[in-house]
Amino acid sequence: MLRQALLQAAQSTQVRQLVETAPVSRSVVRRFVAGTGTADAVRATADLAGAGLAVTVDHLGEDTVDLAAARAVRDAYLVLLRALDDAGLTEGGAAEVSVKLSAVGQALGRDGNKIALEHAFEICSAAATAGTTVTLDMEDHTTTDSTLEILREVRGEYPWLGAVLQAYLRRTEGDCRDLARPGSRVRLCKGAYAEPESVAYRVAGEVDRSYVRCMKILMSGPGYPMAATHDPRLIDIVGALAAQARRPQGGYEFQLLHGVRPAEQLRLAGLGEKVRVYLPYGQEWYGYLMRRMAERPANAAFFLRSLISKG
Ligand SMILES: Cc1cc2nc3c(=O)[nH]c(=O)nc-3n(C[C@H](O)[C@H](O)[C@H](O)COP(=O)(O)OP(=O)(O)OC[C@H]3O[C@@H](n4cnc5c(N)ncnc54)[C@H](O)[C@@H]3O)c2cc1C
Repeated sequence: MLRQALLQAAQSTQVRQLVETAPVSRSVVRRFVAGTGTADAVRATADLAGAGLAVTVDHLGEDTVDLAAARAVRDAYLVLLRALDDAGLTEGGAAEVSVKLSAVGQALGRDGNKIALEHAFEICSAAATAGTTVTLDMEDHTTTDSTLEILREVRGEYPWLGAVLQAYLRRTEGDCRDLARPGSRVRLCKGAYAEPESVAYRVAGEVDRSYVRCMKILMSGPGYPMAATHDPRLIDIVGALAAQARRPQGGYEFQLLHGVRPAEQLRLAGLGEKVRVYLPYGQEWYGYLMRRMAERPANAAFFLRSLISKG
């Protein structure tokens, strides 16, 4: 129930205003977000790289409602990719970027898909120049088909463009089969949006079982699986499935969010696993923070207590 309430709060303008202006928000945000500017993102990426971790940097923002804002997000990625390259952080894809298509125009009505497609091409071109890759985040289920269509088109030119599939969606086993192709980079996560039962598993055990079925398909296929989860049981299962499929370390990777289970990130890297940290930065942290709260009641309780006592 708390999860649903927080996911609904993520859509509410009033709650957003309250949370964004509360002084305590800053300290909670700092745990999950690198900072607001490009320099913050580059600094945090360098720190993680120094600890032996790969990074995917996300410029925060979603559901952009006008063309100028969509262009500004595209420009932020172009600047970021240049800065990561200048800092020597992109070599061999050590630091790449994650992009939400709704932030670069997908939500802009009739022409949305066309605009997002153009911006995705431009960001991929900048990533190619910087010697690295891009992964398209997956958002709510109403965008899955158009995101996969844009992925297919851009992969014609940039075959390394990565996709995200969400194990909570009933359709995802089929999508895993479609995307398990040579060179195909697929991040599998549980899924972070409030989805109706008609399209998504709502019981945790069902989502976990779907995750395992999907990961089996990805691991036994010819693509490159990226296991995005903090779940200790699933992390163990991913390791076992990789061994079963005779994939060497580096033939797949683990991905975890910045600020979530940092000790586990280092433990896995210490075992020789490839570990990539998803590192968000930027002003638009509200929706992202609310989804992190929804995932972990302990985070939400801490945050709400602080809001009430200081607000
Ligand atoms: C790299 C990455 C990229 C992602 N990209 C997307 C995307 O494009 N689209 C999308 O919908 N979702 C995305 N997600 C979010 C994802 O869908 C889940 O909402 C999120 O990862 C939580 O699921 P979980 O697998 O960690 O399992 P959960 O069920 O949330 O957690 C399982 C267990 O993990 C441990 N755990 C979780 N959080 C913590 C914590 N803070 N501290 C200690 N232990 C903890 C606990 O043992 C917990 O019981 C992404 C996640 C990651 C890691």
